[in-house]
Amino acid sequence: MIAATMPSPEPIAASFPVAFCKGCGKSVVTGLTLDDAGIERRLCVHCDTPITTEIEWVSATVLESTGYYIGTPTAPRAGGCGGGCSSGACGVRKN
Ligand SMILES: [Zn+2]
Repeated sequence: MIAATMPSPEPIAASFPVAFCKGCGKSVVTGLTLDDAGIERRLCVHCDTPITTEIEWVSATVLESTGYYIGTPTAPRAGGCGGGCSSGACGVRKN
């Protein structure tokens, strides 16, 4: 039997690695990947441009001030996409 654990809705106390992305032309959240040699490389999470500048670890509050959204999604708009989801959470807007 496989026991699965659900993530608990705890307050976010993490920090996020942010750096300037030349491809996006703005500060973005970065992520790590491994190259073919197994060496960690930091990339833009939006366009995969390698990050060569120093990263800054910022709080969720600071990150949200730059346009990101952290936390529970806001209440969906009534009506949804019209494609059957009825919740508006699918990301498709009807108008
Ligand atoms: Zn980018």
